[in-house]
Amino acid sequence: MKDANTSSKIFQRVILLCLFVFFLASAGAFPADDMTSTILIGNSRIDVVIEKGSLQVSKEELLKWVQWAAESVSAYYGRFPLPHLLLRIIPTDGKGVRGGKTFGEKGGFISIHVGSDTIFEGLATDWMLTHEMVHLAFPSVADNHHWIEEGIATYVEPIARVRAKHLDATQMWFEVVRDLHQGLPAAGDKGLDNTHTWGRTYWGGALFCLLADIEIHQKTANRKGLDDALRGILAAGGDIRQDWPLEKVLDAGDQATGVAVLRPLYEKMKDQPYDVDLPTLWKQLGIERDGGTVRFVNDAPLSQTRVAITYGSAAPGSSAASAISIVAGDTAMNFPRR
Ligand SMILES: [Zn+2]
Repeated sequence: MKDANTSSKIFQRVILLCLFVFFLASAGAFPADDMTSTILIGNSRIDVVIEKGSLQVSKEELLKWVQWAAESVSAYYGRFPLPHLLLRIIPTDGKGVRGGKTFGEKGGFISIHVGSDTIFEGLATDWMLTHEMVHLAFPSVADNHHWIEEGIATYVEPIARVRAKHLDATQMWFEVVRDLHQGLPAAGDKGLDNTHTWGRTYWGGALFCLLADIEIHQKTANRKGLDDALRGILAAGGDIRQDWPLEKVLDAGDQATGVAVLRPLYEKMKDQPYDVDLPTLWKQLGIERDGGTVRFVNDAPLSQTRVAITYGSAAPGSSAASAISIVAGDTAMNFPRR
């Protein structure tokens, strides 16, 4: 057709406008009163959407919180796990951070709730966003292996924050010693693949990680650790966007360290209770509980391993140096100020 009359042109423009609005809506665009910012960390990009709602913390404080969590996972993995993350922050009632969820869709997506009464201290001490970001660095596995997804997130999160200097190592070990017993098998336990209680899923998975971390260090004279195995899995393409059989994941980890630890330990823990004498383990690692804190003993048999687990075997700053984040773009609209 060569030309069209005027009313037809107007009609076409209205249709195009409607299509454009529909496209924005279907593409996951947000209402005009939400706010987006972009954080660049290394070669990765985090698009942060703050939904409309009442919050005591400022936009700058929320972005600082996101930046710290991203720095923590980058310090542990050597880089941010995904090229792009969409992070949706949802204001809610009450105080504190809660209800974090991580998805492989949209190239990587996290939604997390922040209570309206939360103050910056609550963001600065938050663990949940780092936990969710650790999930990005591991492939999806079958439901009966859910314990390894949650176990890694539970175990790696505080270590990652210590390495990025957002958590004190004494506090980290105090909490591990205080909480890890919840992952021990109870009467009637049928192994990690068959016992889907809260304790066995989160802390049972974390127990698997600690045992693996110690064994990798022992077999490599403290040159390699679980961090090397997890970086190897990520380097092999195993991130949240992928569905992998667990055996493939574990083999990629063992290949990265050069020692067979993850697969044999899984065989021992998957379908039977595998009890661990934790008080003896803490003694070997040189960790003594002292009221509301812990003291480190530096001539215990596994003291060097404890230090390597905490800080990694790489030179200080080498992994975190590439992970400096900046707030790049900022298109704020009607963000509620306190
Ligand atoms: Zn989780």
